[in-house]
Amino acid sequence: MNLSTPIKEIPRIGPSFQKKLQKMGIKTAEDLLFHFPHRYEDFSNIRPISKVKLNETCCILGKILEIKNSRTWKKKMILTQAIVEDKTGAIKVVWFNQPYLIKVLKAGDLVCLAGKINVADKGVFLSSPAYEKIPLTSNIQHPTSNLTHTGRLVPVYPETEGLSSRWLRYILKPLLLKLKNKIPEILPQKIIETENLLPINQAIWQIHFPDSMTLAEKARERFSFEELFLIELSVLKERLKLNKAKAPAIPLNIELIKEFVKSLPFKLTNAQRKCAWQILEDLAKPRPMSRLLEGDVGSGKTVVAVIASLNVVRAGYQVAFMAPTEILAKQHFQEVAKLLKPFKVRIALLTGKEDKILAQKLENEVLEISRNKLLDKVKKGEIDILIGTHSLIQDKVKFGNLAFCVIDEQHRFGVEQRAKLITNNYPLKTAQKMIPHFLSMTATPIPRTLALTIYGDLDLSILDEMPKGRKKIITKVIPPEERAKAYDFIRKQVEKGEQVFVICPRIEPGEKASTQKGKEDILGWAEAKAVKEEYEKLSKKVFPDLKVALLHGKMKTSEKEKTMKDFKAKKIDILVSTSVVEVGIDIPAATVMMIEGAERFGLAQLYQFRGRVGRSNLQSYCFLFTESPAKRTRQRLQAIVRAESGFELAQKDLEIRGPGSLSGVKQWGIPDLAMENLKNLPLVEKTREAAKEILNEDPNLKKYPSLKERLKNFKERIHLE
Ligand code: ADP
Ligand code: MG
Repeated sequence: MNLSTPIKEIPRIGPSFQKKLQKMGIKTAEDLLFHFPHRYEDFSNIRPISKVKLNETCCILGKILEIKNSRTWKKKMILTQAIVEDKTGAIKVVWFNQPYLIKVLKAGDLVCLAGKINVADKGVFLSSPAYEKIPLTSNIQHPTSNLTHTGRLVPVYPETEGLSSRWLRYILKPLLLKLKNKIPEILPQKIIETENLLPINQAIWQIHFPDSMTLAEKARERFSFEELFLIELSVLKERLKLNKAKAPAIPLNIELIKEFVKSLPFKLTNAQRKCAWQILEDLAKPRPMSRLLEGDVGSGKTVVAVIASLNVVRAGYQVAFMAPTEILAKQHFQEVAKLLKPFKVRIALLTGKEDKILAQKLENEVLEISRNKLLDKVKKGEIDILIGTHSLIQDKVKFGNLAFCVIDEQHRFGVEQRAKLITNNYPLKTAQKMIPHFLSMTATPIPRTLALTIYGDLDLSILDEMPKGRKKIITKVIPPEERAKAYDFIRKQVEKGEQVFVICPRIEPGEKASTQKGKEDILGWAEAKAVKEEYEKLSKKVFPDLKVALLHGKMKTSEKEKTMKDFKAKKIDILVSTSVVEVGIDIPAATVMMIEGAERFGLAQLYQFRGRVGRSNLQSYCFLFTESPAKRTRQRLQAIVRAESGFELAQKDLEIRGPGSLSGVKQWGIPDLAMENLKNLPLVEKTREAAKEILNEDPNLKKYPSLKERLKNFKERIHLE
């Protein structure tokens, strides 16, 4: 038996349990051993029966004098009652509805029992204790030395249907004994010494069956280090791979850039200059750029991407510009065309629908051409910038000379999608591996620990400055008693010709949702329902005389687009929407952002919603409605009122709500300990340094075969896209 032994070959695991384990992704002995408990029950203190106390959880060791089943007076429940005795006294023990116990535990058996002391009419008793028989063969001097479920620190595993902690202990203990001292150490000896970590064989035993809480803690420390170290290794190796790949070097055309900047109707912020410069420098290298441009909503990311795109186009290459939705793609198409108006760049918009006519902008004229014609032009290099949704990575979209990909408002552009773009567009052109330069743009502030782990293979450019002249958005937390006043205010704003967003919270999906897809679906419907109710209320009761419209994810794309268009054209006063409303949508006349059930959102997300107003020189407002009477909730929401930047809030979310609250993180399959430690900056930095050092010394991990093997398995489990 070794780590890769499949579970079906492990003793005591029958077919039905094999199925349950498989479902949890546990396929081998290794997977089982790395399924860690999330806490421990302390049953280590064995008390003499005469010393037990009421309401206390304790453990006793004694002999069963008698044990029998009986029915309660209502005949609904079966009671198993026993008397257990040690040298100091005897106590009654009661279990409920476990009649089979009399087959397991017999009079005369020596047992260890752990549970709570209760009292009823007939006196004190030990209630439903965990039990364990002590075999006669056990060490007479230390009868409790081999206990698994009682008389020690007992591991409790995350709850899963059909797999009890007791069963896991029953499987894991013999497995651990079999593999004792046979588990290869994956961490380099040097690291174990300098970080003072428990070696693997000791750690794996202590995390499941610890001798003390201190040792359990040491074991967790070791595995926290290990998991983060593996994440860092994967990410840094990915980066090394990219560094080896080739990309077209785009020379910096400084005159062109100067001319472009001069043509703009505004002055670039210093942050925009700095970020544009970082990107242009990267593009000039013959290695693919992989960079994340991060900046609050309204910080002006588009123009930075356009500067880089213009430079690429004038060097004779093409640009792919991807947006997450059609509405945004269209908005970009218009914005990019406007910015590049004096530069005669051939820009086209590719939308998802099969039968749609596609637009191309050339010298300020919008031409509508057929899909085939457009794709043909893209292939021949007659389109300089192609803007669209994910439809840009379909097989049939082939660029003649793609050098630069801009991806807007997408957290990560996955390794797979990247590969697809590459295989579509660099078909055996050269023997050398050619990759276009990548720029992702996001308004999601990424806390430093995540930038160093999950996003660690990307370089960061940060727009930490807003264009001048924007007014600070006035933000207020609105308790129930001030709702009417807020509505009055909103009405006044609308009367002035300004517009209002209303965002409704997500409703948690029902129990039935089992598959991921099903879950999303139910979630979508639940959201749609909540937002519809709000819409009904606002349109019929509160603002019956105003133009109120509805937007949610379950609407047809064409309906959504029409609604957004109408809102932009001011045909709608108040837009009631779910959180799906596009992040980058630009509605300059929207000056009020009203958020219902604000306590249900993360701070960073609220901050982003707020960013959808305040996009002009009009004074804007953000109202956070909450029905929650809890003082803590209101205090948490006050953080938005004071916040200077989204980063600050993202870090707070990470601390208060954990990494799971940040969008996308849950889907990455990161192991629990690493997840817990994604907020631990010193540990993240330490593991990153350690990973860097190892890769510097031995990029292919030739000297560390066990580590290499483990890394391979680890990478199959996580998917950071
Ligand atoms: P985001 O970073 O949210 O994508 P956009 O690129 O959409 O922001 O820019 C928001 C608005 O600000 C646009 O209308 C854009 O033209 C304008 N803008 C960008 N940079 C500046 C600047 N330096 N000064 C003034 N307005 C700017
Ligand atoms: Mg944008």
